[in-house]
Amino acid sequence: QTVSMEKIVSFCKRRGFVYQSSEIYGGIRSSYDYGPLGVEMKRNIREEWWRSMVYMRDDVVGIDAAIIMHPRVWEASGHVETFNDMLVESRTSGRRYRADHLIEEATGIDAEGMSPEEMTRLIEEDERIKDPADGGRDFAPVRPFNLMFETYTGPVKSPENIAYLRPETAQGIFVNFKNVLQTSRVKVPFGIAQIGKSFRNEITPGNFIFRTREFEQMEMEFFVEPGTDEEWHEYWIEERREWYARLGIRPENLRLYEHPKEKLSHYSKRTVDIEYNFPFAGWSELEGIANRTDYDLRRHSEYSGEKLEYFDQAKNESYIPYVIEPAAGVDRILLALLVDAYHEEEAPNAKGEPEKRTVLKLHPRVAPTKAAVFPLTKKEPVSAVARRLYDDLKGDYRIFYDDSGSIGRRYRRQDEAGTPFCITVDFDTLEDKKVTIRDRDTMEQERIPIEAVRDRLAKLISA
Ligand code: ATP
Repeated sequence: QTVSMEKIVSFCKRRGFVYQSSEIYGGIRSSYDYGPLGVEMKRNIREEWWRSMVYMRDDVVGIDAAIIMHPRVWEASGHVETFNDMLVESRTSGRRYRADHLIEEATGIDAEGMSPEEMTRLIEEDERIKDPADGGRDFAPVRPFNLMFETYTGPVKSPENIAYLRPETAQGIFVNFKNVLQTSRVKVPFGIAQIGKSFRNEITPGNFIFRTREFEQMEMEFFVEPGTDEEWHEYWIEERREWYARLGIRPENLRLYEHPKEKLSHYSKRTVDIEYNFPFAGWSELEGIANRTDYDLRRHSEYSGEKLEYFDQAKNESYIPYVIEPAAGVDRILLALLVDAYHEEEAPNAKGEPEKRTVLKLHPRVAPTKAAVFPLTKKEPVSAVARRLYDDLKGDYRIFYDDSGSIGRRYRRQDEAGTPFCITVDFDTLEDKKVTIRDRDTMEQERIPIEAVRDRLAKLISA
């Protein structure tokens, strides 16, 4: 069972997961807003990442660095010089494309990593390469295009006031390496984790929230002794792969992808991606796990004049640590989880007749709403009991209270929203002090004492 992009986009809008940004003005390409269900799910993804990367470990701490940093940071990091995509403009339609994408789509030749001159020549010579918009073959020379968004700090728009919106969160961690060392008693090997927005002026954003110009990253820089880096790299690849598996992503839709040596980023010794098999885009990156060596700390030491070293007390020596970096995108993970969880199936309705239902089989930890509470009737005293239960639960989780429509209709609405548990208060509850708890996936129902609901939910959600 696979779901099309159109279906997911309209589902996301209809149920309040994701809206086109500025829609009343016709929208803006590649910007999206998260609605009431989307925002909860996004928070849950961050929460799960932070829990496993920070809380569950005693060797990782967190920070939250500024988006606008000193412009020299991006010179030292190599982004001013090398954070480019190759841009080609059609002289007939005026459209702009990523040159390597244009070449690959027309010829199958993998042009990533070619020089602009090589790409220009290839485009001129190979007649299969045409402007997809109008079939034209008149292109301007390929040129590198820097993906960083530029802005100015202060009232004067002059070159010395240029600042950049960060294209990755990682640099905020490297420039705080010394601060964290001096203020938190960490010892190598240790990590610093951060979640936040990053910005890239992508030439061809697309595939809904998969590639946008503003997106959210979850990155962790893990500092290790040189020589132990390859082992730690393997460790983090496995840790991260398991994280996705634990969230219930179907194993056949996950794989590891090893970057070929000649295509590694300027700072990387080895990079392995965790990829998801999107029905509309094929295998695509959710997360990259890179061995960044000592590149960043070394460069920041050179550019800033601050020695970014680690003194190993046991060995009585100083060195620049190597860095293993798992870097994931919140938005891409959310899309993968939605696609993976989306099911349309036949299920018996209240009368036992088969009926079509849409159900999001999300892991309870990432489900936007953890449980819904239904009074069988709006009338007292049933509704008062249901309200009390709702009030009792709502401080711990996102809980939904719904007293309109038939119970069957209410179940269907929650199935679609991915709510894993529905709790119904009925007339019998007044006698036996029990409620019915229904499982979204199996649709099985069980009667349990009302006082047991809280513990049961906690157990079911953390399972
Ligand atoms: P791609 O090759 O898809 O452009 P990348 O290799 O440049 O991605 P990284 O620099 O490794 O990406 O960034 C780490 C993570 O940040 C990616 O795995 C992805 O989840 C997320 N990410 C990067 N660029 C975008 C974007 N434009 N939109 C949404 N998420 C992004």
